[in-house]
Amino acid sequence: MPRPPLDPDARIDLHTHSDRSDGTESPAVLVREAAAAGLDVVALTDHDGVSGWAEADRAGRRHKVVVVPGVEISCSWHGVSVHLLGYLVDPGHPGLTEELGRTRESRRTRLRRMVELLAAEGFPVSYPEVLALAGDEASLGRPHIADVLVGNGRYASRDEAFADVLASGSPFHVGHYAPGPVHATELVRAAGGVAVMAHPFAAARGTLVPDAVIGEMARAGLLGLEVEHRDHDPEQRAHGRELARRLGLLTTGSSDYHGAGKPNRLGENLTDPEVLDAILGAGSGHPLLGDSG
Ligand code: AMP
Ligand code: FE
Ligand code: FE
Ligand code: ZN
Repeated sequence: MPRPPLDPDARIDLHTHSDRSDGTESPAVLVREAAAAGLDVVALTDHDGVSGWAEADRAGRRHKVVVVPGVEISCSWHGVSVHLLGYLVDPGHPGLTEELGRTRESRRTRLRRMVELLAAEGFPVSYPEVLALAGDEASLGRPHIADVLVGNGRYASRDEAFADVLASGSPFHVGHYAPGPVHATELVRAAGGVAVMAHPFAAARGTLVPDAVIGEMARAGLLGLEVEHRDHDPEQRAHGRELARRLGLLTTGSSDYHGAGKPNRLGENLTDPEVLDAILGAGSGHPLLGDSG
């Protein structure tokens, strides 16, 4: 049965993180906060994992918020970081499951190594502390090291810890395994999902892939570009809309909420209801969460 088109006034935020990756709120609290922020639809898109979906489903029913199941896949193009949002994927798809598992495992090894390097220089952090803070099901990331360093009084904020020791140019930085962005786009499609490139023009985060790579991703089945994002300035947004038009892609907007871990606020950027309709029409790997009809 095709879904009826969404209410034209629906408030839709398609990119958020819970404590199953580097957000600070549980999936249930995140969904409750989404309801309190007046959102009708929120996507849960933790880095490289889907362990928060079941809890978000229950919370969505409780708070009458539709939750789009998603994942933000860390990708690497010749060492350049690319983030790919995969919505409505089948979480049991063997190729996707294997790739996400490989990335999460590599994130663990890499975080342990970074902690060892920091501890050897006297920074107040240990791997057991990181694990205790992150919990068993979380996809580990640099923000977990930052949170331990902040908790132990070494820095005042995640931002300070990143600026001093966690950024990619730091001697303490260690990389992790990540699939290529074209391959990841193909995997999302193979798993019945919808692929949207996250914050494609956020130059402040580091080197960007050339637009030609986005063209290759489009040919591999990419559906959209996340243009309305706080890390894009007006010029980058204009370029994103123009590139999307040229490549026949949709554009989305989101908060990239991380709870208390970042200043981003739920609903600070929104996605048009017609764009969500197109996403729902193109994804078949998993139904919506928290949705009774
Ligand atoms: P990782 O996934 O381990 O490579 O860490 C990258 C994550 O750290 C990103 O997804 C952001 O959520 C977060 N991050 C990057 N820079 C900062 C910063 N300056 N302050 C707080 N969080 C950051
Ligand atoms: Fe993050
Ligand atoms: Fe991202
Ligand atoms: Zn994100």
